[in-house]
Amino acid sequence: ARDAQYPFTEDYNGEQPDGFTWMQATLRHGRRWSAAAAYLHPALKRPNLTVKTKALVERIEFDGERAIGIRYGQGGPSVSARAECEVILSGGTINSPQLLMLSGIGDPAHLRDHGIDVVMPLRGVGQNLADHTSSAFIFRRHDGGPFQRNMRFDRVVLSLIRAYLGKGGFAADLPFGITGFLKTTPDVPAPDIQMLFWMGATTTASPWLPPFKKAFTDSFSVRIMPMHPTSRGHVALASSRPEDAAIIHQNFFGTEEEWETMRRGLRMARELVASPRLKVFGGEEIAPGADKQSDAEIDTHIRATMGTVHHPVGTCKMGPDTDPEAVVDGELRVRGVDGLRVVDASVMPDLIGGATNAPVIMMAEKAADMILGKEPLPPADV
Ligand SMILES: Cc1cc2nc3c(=O)[nH]c(=O)nc-3n(C[C@H](O)[C@H](O)[C@H](O)COP(=O)(O)OP(=O)(O)OC[C@H]3O[C@@H](n4cnc5c(N)ncnc54)[C@H](O)[C@@H]3O)c2cc1C
Repeated sequence: ARDAQYPFTEDYNGEQPDGFTWMQATLRHGRRWSAAAAYLHPALKRPNLTVKTKALVERIEFDGERAIGIRYGQGGPSVSARAECEVILSGGTINSPQLLMLSGIGDPAHLRDHGIDVVMPLRGVGQNLADHTSSAFIFRRHDGGPFQRNMRFDRVVLSLIRAYLGKGGFAADLPFGITGFLKTTPDVPAPDIQMLFWMGATTTASPWLPPFKKAFTDSFSVRIMPMHPTSRGHVALASSRPEDAAIIHQNFFGTEEEWETMRRGLRMARELVASPRLKVFGGEEIAPGADKQSDAEIDTHIRATMGTVHHPVGTCKMGPDTDPEAVVDGELRVRGVDGLRVVDASVMPDLIGGATNAPVIMMAEKAADMILGKEPLPPADV
């Protein structure tokens, strides 16, 4: 990448986000470390904490405009849980707006369509859905690369046992390690794509063992994720029943800007793979194919291969009172009602230029301080 004039960065979450580097991950002792393992499990013995598993929250209960608890079920008849101070809703970007709407907070017309009494008209609930997408070009790699080698049946079985015992190794790692946050045009102030090198085409790679099964064609892909999509989707109720999944209208690639960014990113991937340092690994383009050069041909490939990167945000967005679409205020309190906050990815007004898990954890820590009424920390000198 350096030879192709791309920068290198030690830490894309540090002062220089631009450039290629190794992926960062939420790990402890070499294993993925979930928010539950980090925060909930150590607190389970507290006398003021009760965890109900396999419970479906059906709605928030109100006394007038004050949230006083929730109604939930665990397979049997639903019961109420009362809140002494406030209700904290953390259902995520799809389910937090669904629960608000089921509880009477949302666009009055949509609520009435489903026979739900309006507690507070807030038309922004469920709107402003933003998510990262990705699409990849796939390239041939000379046979015998590390991914193909490690996927031989006997090796992969041993790797899985090793990983299961917590000893690390091939099966404990993700098949992508090198990434870059890059600008596809000098006009943007910050990187507008993430480029991810991925070992082996995910659709064709599988365990192999001679003489029973031949090895798959060794390959690698370069995945492009536009960081700041401008189109917005929305989440709507399918019905007034909490068991019914909400309807997700993603509206991906709803703006020309998003198409242009994705095309520029994919063309950058092509150029990079053709650079002398990478050519030694192979580089013949398998998909969409080197002859597919026009915008229309690249768009056809994007349409056929793109998918979500699972970073939905924005459906209960934070904003000032002057913003009619804002659902929560600067302290994450739902506007117009008392005793109710939303603390999850849904409150982000816009997508950040990276993955969402760590920022949500950071927001939850900040929310804990707000709930406890702690003063904001003084600005840090970083
Ligand atoms: C497949 C996948 C891969 C991802 N990979 C990455 C990654 O590599 N890096 C990264 O940074 N981010 C990643 N993310 C995104 C990251 O996981 C999310 O941004 C983050 O978990 C959002 O946190 P949240 O608290 O908003 O919602 P969630 O983590 O979704 O938590 C919401 C919780 O509410 C529960 N819930 C919802 N409705 C109800 C109800 N009615 N009753 C009871 N419980 C309910 C849900 O079961 C869930 O446990 C990934 C997401 C997915 C889906």
